[in-house]
Amino acid sequence: MVTLDNAFLTLENFGHSLRAPAYVIKPTHPEEIAQAFELARRTGLTITARGAGRSYNDASLNGGGIVLDMSALNRILKWDPQTGSLTAEPGVTIEQLWQRVEPDGWWPPVVSGTMFTTLGGCLSANVHGKNNFKVGTIGEHVLEFSAILPAGAEIVCSPQTNADLFYAMISGFGMLGIFTSITLQMKRIYSGLLEVDARPSHNLPEHLADLLQNAPNYDYIVGWLDTTAGGKSLGRGQIHAARELGEGEDPNAQKTMLLKNQTLPSRIFGVFPKSILHYFMSPFVNNLGTWGINTGKYLASLPRHTFRESHAAFHFLLDYIPNWELSFGRGGLIEYQSFVPRETAEAAWTEMLRRSLKRGLPSYLGVTKRHRPDPFLLTHAVDGFSLAMDFKVTAGNRAALGEMLQEFDQIVLEAGGRFYFAKNSETTPETALRFLGGDTVSRFKDLKKRCDPNGLLESDLYQRVFGAGRTWDSDTTRSP
Ligand SMILES: Cc1cc2nc3c(=O)[nH]c(=O)nc-3n(C[C@H](O)[C@H](O)[C@H](O)COP(=O)(O)OP(=O)(O)OC[C@H]3O[C@@H](n4cnc5c(N)ncnc54)[C@H](O)[C@@H]3O)c2cc1C
Repeated sequence: MVTLDNAFLTLENFGHSLRAPAYVIKPTHPEEIAQAFELARRTGLTITARGAGRSYNDASLNGGGIVLDMSALNRILKWDPQTGSLTAEPGVTIEQLWQRVEPDGWWPPVVSGTMFTTLGGCLSANVHGKNNFKVGTIGEHVLEFSAILPAGAEIVCSPQTNADLFYAMISGFGMLGIFTSITLQMKRIYSGLLEVDARPSHNLPEHLADLLQNAPNYDYIVGWLDTTAGGKSLGRGQIHAARELGEGEDPNAQKTMLLKNQTLPSRIFGVFPKSILHYFMSPFVNNLGTWGINTGKYLASLPRHTFRESHAAFHFLLDYIPNWELSFGRGGLIEYQSFVPRETAEAAWTEMLRRSLKRGLPSYLGVTKRHRPDPFLLTHAVDGFSLAMDFKVTAGNRAALGEMLQEFDQIVLEAGGRFYFAKNSETTPETALRFLGGDTVSRFKDLKKRCDPNGLLESDLYQRVFGAGRTWDSDTTRSP
């Protein structure tokens, strides 16, 4: 029987820029999810599911309420290496997933840039990978899922059964029900390696033209932008475009697909544990340090080259340095990701990059991807591109940063762009209404009433975007 005893803990977002205390309950069996709903009804508290807590914002925080830590529901229930169909509990991580299927010649169809996310979190956000332009989001590869609704019903959804809930719960950020099992179609691979072309782009127009024109020739494409470069070099960077190797292209396929040849090393030069690396990065995570590192990285990227790299190394670059986010210091970081149509992206991002440089608030990381629209209700995707920017938060810059990001929202909205509820911390109800559209918000609210008539599922994100409204600098925010 689940209880609230000894469970009041303070949780943070991935960026360590927000914090919220909550009663944390860790179900070990789906029955305990139903019990938690019953407890919430009795106590008048609300519930938020939490996977691995890797959302950059308040998606899995619930100040003063109950947080269901789903990480113990982490069994792979069924794996069929003949068909590539896998059924798992929602707390299974992307790491568990690829490590189970890769030795049999399969790879997850879509992965996030970190392998530490859970399947439940990935479905709720409907994550995209570096192959979004080609295969869509993770939801497009879900064959079926089961879930418990707050009113107590257990349902099974697929594109054919309960289709309205299938397309709304995937992308619904856990606000309609809690996933209990997920069946996903894996994709075949014929080598443990990808072939990667790396090339520089000298400015933003060249960068976006490369993403647009060359994506169709590859399986994956991703760009890095030097967000500290101005003038004629504004938006310069590098493109990494990769393709799967076909049958017979890798003479050592048996060997390259062994797990030991995929796993990321835990030490640098075989000696220093990577877990301490973020301490050495901290002194460089400021305007001058980032400018120096970016300039060096850009110059090093100038010679075009092609190389082969393991799937894990290509997909999970950000996992190379454990806890890298801690290098942003006590105030943490905010990730601001905008999704802008291909026709308007150049003008919108030129303006945003210029403004951030002019204000002395450059982002310290800039990552671009090519996207296509998808059929999910709270979709963030467009036929265009995304740009993710990481901003350091300090006591001194918090207000100015908040103001600048509100200006960015207006630029993105004017450009016909969208936002992603797994990333941005400052999207307001007005902004959400503008990019989602009134029809979508009404459909979502109707489903919410149907699945959760007593409003038991509420996160800080939900409160901020659809509810009474807590903003990113409110009482759940940590003081740097
Ligand atoms: C380094 C890094 C790189 C990233 N790269 C990408 C990327 O390339 N592409 C991308 O799309 N995203 C990316 N993300 C974002 C990340 O994939 C999403 O935020 C994802 O939702 C995190 O999964 P999680 O298990 O940590 O979920 P949490 O952050 O814990 O929760 C996310 C949402 O899922 C809900 N939820 C969790 N479990 C369940 C469940 N069982 N049932 C119902 N709802 C549930 C929560 O309530 C919450 O709304 C990245 C994040 C990081 C930190």
